[in-house]
Amino acid sequence: MPIRILPPDVADKIAAGEVVERPASVVKELVENALDAGAQTIRVEIREGGIRFIRVQDDGSGIPAAEVPLAIRRHATSKIARAEDLEAISTLGFRGEALASIASVSRLTLATRHRDEPVGTRIVVEGGHVQGQESVGLPAGTTVTVEHLFFNVPARRKFLKTPRTEAGYVHRVMTRYALAYPDVRFTYVSDGRTVFQTTGNGRLADVLAVIFGRETAEQMVPVGHVDMPWPEPGPTPAVWGYVGKPSLHRGNRQHIFLFLNRRWIQDHALTQAIIQAYHTFLPVGRYPVAVIHVALDPHLVDVNVHPAKAEVRFREPRVVFAAVQKAVRETIATIQPIRQAHAEVDWTRPPGWADRRRTLVEAGHGQQAFPMPEGEPSLGTSPPPSPPPSDTPVSAPIQLPKAGLVPLLRVIGQVGATYIVAEGPDGLYLIDQHAAHERVLYEKMMAERAARGQVASQQLLDPIPVTMDSELAGLIREHLEELQRAGFEIEPFGGNTYLVRAIPAVFSGQDPKRVVEDVVRGLAEEKDVTQQTFEERLVTMICKRAAVKGGQVLSEEEMRALVRDLEACETPHTCPHGRPTMIHIHAEELAKLFGRLG
Ligand code: ADP
Ligand code: MG
Repeated sequence: MPIRILPPDVADKIAAGEVVERPASVVKELVENALDAGAQTIRVEIREGGIRFIRVQDDGSGIPAAEVPLAIRRHATSKIARAEDLEAISTLGFRGEALASIASVSRLTLATRHRDEPVGTRIVVEGGHVQGQESVGLPAGTTVTVEHLFFNVPARRKFLKTPRTEAGYVHRVMTRYALAYPDVRFTYVSDGRTVFQTTGNGRLADVLAVIFGRETAEQMVPVGHVDMPWPEPGPTPAVWGYVGKPSLHRGNRQHIFLFLNRRWIQDHALTQAIIQAYHTFLPVGRYPVAVIHVALDPHLVDVNVHPAKAEVRFREPRVVFAAVQKAVRETIATIQPIRQAHAEVDWTRPPGWADRRRTLVEAGHGQQAFPMPEGEPSLGTSPPPSPPPSDTPVSAPIQLPKAGLVPLLRVIGQVGATYIVAEGPDGLYLIDQHAAHERVLYEKMMAERAARGQVASQQLLDPIPVTMDSELAGLIREHLEELQRAGFEIEPFGGNTYLVRAIPAVFSGQDPKRVVEDVVRGLAEEKDVTQQTFEERLVTMICKRAAVKGGQVLSEEEMRALVRDLEACETPHTCPHGRPTMIHIHAEELAKLFGRLG
């Protein structure tokens, strides 16, 4: 085909794809417009995850009637006028693309009245074509309604996830704006239910309580000057916000929120700055909860590098990094770190390790006997073991003989408080204690469920009320039955509070509140949930949470019991997530590696 300029409606659809990926991106753009218009109150309502219906209502400036047709045209904006304006952007929007893009892939109704004009305007656009415009009586402000997103782009529609998942993305977006604008009153409604509502009183602490739940918010401490008015962007970065006490931690980085000039950003280096500020205060593999704001002169940042503006480029990244790390570190250092009784042990320093090492060194075994890295710990960041030479592969799959009366594997010891070393009839076995225990628990629970329809549970002497944030509370509400079959007896107790009467027996002795929170949060945060049912995921999550962790020192008896249980498993070689539980080096391979065999 010869080169041709695309017809405008085709070009529009392609461009729209960059701005409008899913309902959450529509919500993001509309909320940003409302904020740019100086709104004090913003109400967002979605239905069916926003695929069917999105409405964003604000009490901002409104759009003058004469400009309404322009607002929905591509590259029409009131926010910048010249190329130089791109050098210092102080509004959230500036490309003049959002309304045009959204209107080209949905049915969009824009109803607005400028605060200086007596009457408002309503315009309806379907698939980019204006259907009609009329004058109407309206309160000052703007309401944008978006229906049937991607009705004319089936390829995009197919790419959307379930309404529940899409609603989850919208929730995440709403959370970010609530945290960035404590002085704006946000209401977020999904399928008729008010998911959250902030007061708009300007207190970030109050927003934290709404978003994370009161209990979590109470475990967070202020960094810098948190009360509004906030610092104006200046030549040096100003940093403020809230960070969790070291006793408050999560399984991933998703609970670290970063804002630059009140724009939510993703920035790997700054996230790392916060994590590093917690160095040695958090258990291995756990991450802090943090809401950190940075204000910096817009001339020193480029926000125009990413289609969704989620990433920015700092002129002096190191200065910003240092400012964030220093502010967080200073706050953390003033808090006494509180360790849970069953907190995971640091991989570099299992208890008694120093003594043991001293004995070994004194006995002349020195470094080689127990080479432990000194610096930053963590299983996650340590480099993977170098692969064996290609002519002597580690044999896989492992032929673990079926269990007999006599245990087949003889436990020799533990390495790095994480792997069990064992000897079998045909060579050396390295067993990942966490993966192995997950497998053992998983098969045990599945067997119980098959035999009795339900996993063994332990009744609590006194039922315990647990209050969740709105997202987790929703998840519990939807899955009470599955939770029951998995050993949790939970009943609604009003609002986002639930009464826990029993927990799976595998957790006996643990803090029931933490167990429920960890398991449900784990499920909410799982990324790849395509193949399994909720119940399977739930059981897997319980095992993951209940299994011994890497970094936990085990007694010899515990190791023997674990290996014995593993031998009895149907599928001993992989954990429920499919990762290997053990590595086997055949006796012959050992001999080869040592040059004993040709
Ligand atoms: P941008 O935000 O990049 O300028 P948009 O397509 O999102 O582009 O909006 C186009 C224009 O419409 C804005 O520049 C603004 O003048 C006007 N506008 C859009 N939404 C609102 C709103 N909620 N309140 C007031 N004006 C609005
Ligand atoms: Mg905009």
